[in-house]
Formats: sequence, structure tokens, C-alpha cells
Amino acid sequence: MPTNANFYLSLQQGIQASYSKPCISGPDFPELTYLELEKLTAQTANLLKGLNINAGARVLAQTPKTPLAIALYLACLRSGAIYVPLNNGYTNDELDYFIEDTKPDLFVCSTSQRRKLEELFAKHNIPSVLELDENGHGSLFDSLKELPDEHEVEPVDADDIAVIIYTSGTTGKPKGAMLSHGNLDNNSKSLYSLWGWQKDDVLIHALPIFHIHGLFVALHSALLGGSSMLFLSRFDVKQLIQLIPKATVLMGVPTFYTRLLQEDALNPELCRNMRLFVSGSAPLLEETFKEFYERSGHQILERYGMSETGILASNPLNDERIPGTVGLALPEVTYRVCNDDGKVLSPGSIGTLQVKGPNIFKGYWRNPEKTKQEFRDGYFITGDLVKEADDGRISIVGRNKDLIISGGFNVYPKEIELVMDDFETILESAVVGVNHPDFGEAVIAIVVLSNPDQAFDEQAMINLLKDRLAAYKVPKKIIVKPELPRNTMGKVQKNLLREEYGKLFI
Ligand code: AMP
Repeated sequence: MPTNANFYLSLQQGIQASYSKPCISGPDFPELTYLELEKLTAQTANLLKGLNINAGARVLAQTPKTPLAIALYLACLRSGAIYVPLNNGYTNDELDYFIEDTKPDLFVCSTSQRRKLEELFAKHNIPSVLELDENGHGSLFDSLKELPDEHEVEPVDADDIAVIIYTSGTTGKPKGAMLSHGNLDNNSKSLYSLWGWQKDDVLIHALPIFHIHGLFVALHSALLGGSSMLFLSRFDVKQLIQLIPKATVLMGVPTFYTRLLQEDALNPELCRNMRLFVSGSAPLLEETFKEFYERSGHQILERYGMSETGILASNPLNDERIPGTVGLALPEVTYRVCNDDGKVLSPGSIGTLQVKGPNIFKGYWRNPEKTKQEFRDGYFITGDLVKEADDGRISIVGRNKDLIISGGFNVYPKEIELVMDDFETILESAVVGVNHPDFGEAVIAIVVLSNPDQAFDEQAMINLLKDRLAAYKVPKKIIVKPELPRNTMGKVQKNLLREEYGKLFI
């Protein structure tokens, strides 16, 4: 008989070993033990079965962050269905594309959004739609009543797709990165051992669950070891301060740490039980690392990864953590640093990081062309510019993809430029990221008007963009210029714009 490589079986070992312990607790929800979580995921998997959602079917989820949303994800793993988490900020225009691309069998939406989405559901004739509200209630919850709380985990191969994560692309159209059961299994077990997880660890889970950081890195580590999670429905620095004395691990984006530094209550006494502060998804400034160490007595452990690969590199748990670096490649990750022609460079040179390993995704959903473009000799081209030190430590020095990371969220300028250029008043636009004390980078747009004599209402344009784009993508400032700076090849010189407006917020 073939072995069952369903990733849920790995998680289930941690879950079953901790049945009597709280799995999820915190100020926002009633406590859920590990036994209750196992039963809830079994019931949800039985619901999926009843809806004819079997291996390979797509389940799209744009839900509030609740324990039942976690159970829905785990139930998809159990059933072999493909889970597709969607950023809560996505607008109808954006969702239209994801629905068309994935052809879901089930869409789980937030109760408050249902009415707004009804037209889309009808247009695409989605077979099943369920709702979940902020308190964990709604038709998804109601449908579980009376369903058996036992379920046999569906057999899958290690290469079968477990999750599709959409990442925005330089072409403007988001691509669905396909992560397999084997990918998730490998990366979560690597991190579990690398970061020395212990059974009595208590994790503060304050990250969103539509991104790999919250959904994979934080959640999987806790479940694998049956550790308790203090679960916040959203990041709130005051709540974090309340929870830190009861916790041992925090996973966050750099913004969590800059916000914590603004709190007088942050001191070594507050952090006395903490074992590990992890940061990732965007660059952690050296000064944040240093200031946090001075104020809390803890060195933040910075790690680096991406949706397509999971975590690739991490600073060490027990050895020196060097600010400005993301540490060493994970044990099973092979990498090379190449120039634009694909030639492998010697250590110390700056080039694009290419990676290979059991954690690397299976390609972009229904996009073999794009998949082919982003791999070379079996290596995935990350698009990040790095420098490797003699001891193998990696520093990220830039991105050759045109990416902006604002508050930990990725923003691809092209996507916003396409939306802006659609407006008759705008002839052309250039979107860039500039330093921002809170978000790391802030999105700003420089536009040329179709009619230079026309008055331009910046706030009205921002409001219009809010209807079309998730809030984190909407420019914080729109600047009108008579023309955009271009090089002799006609390419917009965004570096000049970044220089000119780089100090807008600092
Ligand atoms: P995502 O696919 O949303 O996880 O974004 C992946 C991108 O985030 C990477 O390609 C990097 O550009 C960036 N990133 C992630 N972690 C770090 C880090 N620790 N330092 C700098 N950039 C990072």
C-alpha cells in the first residue's frame, strides 16, 4: 500500500499528544483544547465531503481570523482539497480574477462581505458558499452541527498540492504559487528543530492567516509540538504587551517590533519568560535590532523566505545573530548567487539568489510559462539580490523584482500603475516605495495628468483607488509632475523618484 504523505498526519501527532492542553486561547475567543481542535477539523472535513469537495478541489477563503478559520484550513489538508487563502483587503475586482483563475468548489467569505460578493458568486456560478463572522459564527459553523467528529485523513502523495498562495507579479497579474504536502512537511519540520521548539512553548499568534508567515511558519510550528497559542484576531500592540509575560515565542513582521519599541512597558521584566522573538517578511533595520536588544534583553532572530519557497534562511538559535543578515540557508536548501546571465558568482559578490530544495513550490497554478521563466537548471530564481559572506551568512541587499514591502505586505508597483492609468485624468503613473518609520516602506505614486491645466484632487483619487485595490496597496501620497524622468531607453528612472521623495515620511 502506498504511504499516506498527507501533511495533516504530521500535525496530528502533535495534536494527539496534547489533547488536554489549550491549543487556542486569548482575549478574543473562548479557549479551544487540542482535542476540540481535532474534533472540529474532523467535523469540517466531513462537511467538505458532504459538499463533494474531494482531493484537488479548490476552497477559497477570505475570512476573519478565528479558530474555525484555522480548522477550515486543516480540514482542507485532511481532505486533500486545495486551500486558497485570500487577503481580507482584496476588492471585488481582485477577487474576480482569483475566482476565474481557480474555479473554486467552495468560497468561504466573511459574513459582513456576503452581500457585496453576491454578484460575483452568481457570475461564476460557485457551487457552494459559506460564511464565517468575527466571532466564529455563521453558516460554516451552523453546518457543522450533528456532523461526526471523526474523520479518516485522505491519502495523498507528497507532491499533491495542499495550498495555493497568490503572490503579485511584476506583470501586474498575481500568480498562484502551488505548495505541496511535501513542501509544507519539510519546511515546518526544519524550522521546528532549528528553532528548538519545546512542548511547553507558548506562541503569540498575532499575524494574519492569509500569508505564509501566519498560516505556515507560526501555526505549523505550534501544532507540530502541540504548543499553546495566544491567538489575536488582529495585531494590537497593547494586547501584545498584555500577552508577552504569558508567552515564550513571538513571530512578527518588523512593524511589530517598531511598535513595541514605542511602548514604555517594554522592558526585560516584561519579557522574562520569552525564549524567542522572530522577525521576517521584510527587512529588519539594524537599529531596530539594537534598540530592541537594549530595551528587552532579547536579540530578534531574523529569518528570510517567500511564498514560493517557505523559509530559506535563518539566523541561528544558539549562535551569534548578526543584524542586517538573514543568517544561514536551512540545512536542506541548496543555493547559488548568480549574475543576470545566470553565471554563478564567488562569495562576496552581489547577485540574484537561486534556490533548490524539498521546500520549493511546484510551480504557478495553470501557468507553466511563468513557472519555466522562474526556474533555471532546477533552481528557483528568487529575484532577491543578496551577498554571501565567507561563513555562508546571507544579507539581502535589494530586490531586482520591483517589489515594495509595506508593513510586511508585498506590493507590486505595476499592478497599481495599471489601475491608475485606467483613469482618464491620468496619462501615466510611476509607483515607488519610500522609507516610512512605521511601515518600513510606504507606497507613493507620481502621476502625469492627461490635461496639465486640470485641477487634481489627490484625496478623491485615493478614495477611488480604495474601491479598486486592497488598502495596503493604495498610495499614501500622489504627486503630480509634468513628466516622468526617463533614461535613453525610455525606461522610467524610478531610482530618481525614490531619491527625490525618499524623505517624505522621515
Ligand atoms: P512573500 O512571498 O510575501 O513572503 O514575500 C517574499 C519577499 O519578502 C522575499 O522575496 C523578500 O524580498 C522579502 N523578505 C522576506 N523576508 C525578508 C527579510 N528577512 N529581509 C528582507 N526581505 C525579506
